[in-house]
Amino acid sequence: MASASASASLESATRGAKSSAALEFLKSSPKKLLINGKWVPSKSGKTFETLNPANEQVLALVAEGDKADVDEAVKYARKAYEDAKWANLSPHARTGLLLKIADLIEQHADELAELETLDNGKPLFESRNIDIPGAAETFRYYAGFATKIYGETNPSDPSMFNYTLREPVGVCGQIIPWNFPLLMASWKIAPALACGNVVILKPAEQTPLTAIRLGELICEAGLPEGVVQIVTGFGPGAGSSIAEHPDIDKVAFTGSTEVGKLILQASAGNLKRVSLELGGKSPNIIFPDADMPAAVFGSSLGIFLNQGQVCCAGSRVFVQESVYDQFTDSLSKMASGLTLGNPLDPNTRMGPLVSKEQHDRVKGYLKAGKEEGAKAKTGGEPGKQEAGYFIQPTVFTGVNNQMKIAREEIFGPVASAIPFKDEADVVFQSNDTTYGLAAGVWTKDINRALTIARKLKAGTVWINTYSVLDPISPFGGYKQSGFGRELGKYAIDLYTQIKSVYARIG
Ligand code: NAP
Ligand code: MG
Repeated sequence: MASASASASLESATRGAKSSAALEFLKSSPKKLLINGKWVPSKSGKTFETLNPANEQVLALVAEGDKADVDEAVKYARKAYEDAKWANLSPHARTGLLLKIADLIEQHADELAELETLDNGKPLFESRNIDIPGAAETFRYYAGFATKIYGETNPSDPSMFNYTLREPVGVCGQIIPWNFPLLMASWKIAPALACGNVVILKPAEQTPLTAIRLGELICEAGLPEGVVQIVTGFGPGAGSSIAEHPDIDKVAFTGSTEVGKLILQASAGNLKRVSLELGGKSPNIIFPDADMPAAVFGSSLGIFLNQGQVCCAGSRVFVQESVYDQFTDSLSKMASGLTLGNPLDPNTRMGPLVSKEQHDRVKGYLKAGKEEGAKAKTGGEPGKQEAGYFIQPTVFTGVNNQMKIAREEIFGPVASAIPFKDEADVVFQSNDTTYGLAAGVWTKDINRALTIARKLKAGTVWINTYSVLDPISPFGGYKQSGFGRELGKYAIDLYTQIKSVYARIG
């Protein structure tokens, strides 16, 4: 039973929340780990706080899982896998259960959207219209795959019958970031389960709540115990224990390039399969013949969605010289018109960044940009709110591609607008980066658009649009933005391995 002071502080931390279900969920704190179908405290008994970044107040205490808890989770996941409780279920039954998870996400969409906004700070407008429906859609999409994972028969000698089986990889560790918490959990869990794997998911310490709630919904859907474990905790404790674990067969990671390299090193111990979806510094290219209002709106969405905390954000806006001033004026006007405030307000279009650490990081880049001679045409400062990690939407002009704000991933609402001369120049500058996650190009000349799309070294290219993501299409990086492709049929490759069977006949 919550004490009077605890419920008063929860009321203050959740001011503006309307979902009674979300508030009920938060009242039962501390949150526990999901291991073998049961909710258990961490073995150490330690917990950590998760905050509302809009007011810096505590929403809930969460179990701090570490190596001992990961070991326990792996033990039960391994047992569930070897008992084939999941992989040997009829594919139709797996489809049914994944569809049920999608339905439950939709039925609880208002609650999940408020929890996401409370924990992460993203506007409710986004969590309710993008994150939560996207998570349900991902489960629904991969539900269909469970019955469509095919092997092949091969043209062998008549004395031999040779065929392939596509089998699950086994126990999958999945480490996700804080920027799209429920959506990232669904990108990881749904394809892994469709292929018959079992999983151990570690959400980011800043945003564990919707993954925990998803764990409850997965139990409610009736998945066998041990198929999905949720281990909350910190990167160097729970995360690195997953990456190093000798009995985990595969690790899927989304987050910073820096940590991605650590994951890869740690995987060497037992040569676990690795897929990495890392950072970006994506170019978004504006030609003078573009539909300008559409290009301004799309570019604004490309960099300001989710406060710019998007791995594929169009953070380098390349504008051809003849329209540079006109375009950056319009983009700045659009940026300054975004309503900053309590993200639970349905009219808010920009909430706080996720954490103090991220706020400090982005403030550091605002300072670096000014020191290097760029001009903040709009923004350039923290938000003026009394509390919370707000940053004004910022458009830097006078940027060149060698500046720190053009080379490093800022992960905040900061556009670096860079002029270019011609096609060759913009292709060169766009590709002059260690990253290669995504790119955008705005022009009415379809030949130019398609030619440039081929030349850009990026895993996704958008033409006359930006930030469109759909489970039907693969997503992942070139260069140091990672490897492996999530979404689409490509995720099936990540979560299956192929066995070739030869049988002598005749
Ligand atoms: P991060 O450290 O890479 O965090 C991503 C996930 O990895 C979290 O679950 C984190 O756990 C975990 N982790 C951290 N250290 C680990 C380790 N040694 N072994 C295993 N797992 C580990 O990212 P961040 O520090 O939150 O953000 C830093 C920067 O990364 C951002 O500013 C941005 O540039 C980039 N980033 C990119 C993406 C993307 O979508 N590509 C997403 C987020 C951040 P804890 O959170 O519990 O520590
Ligand atoms: Mg939080």
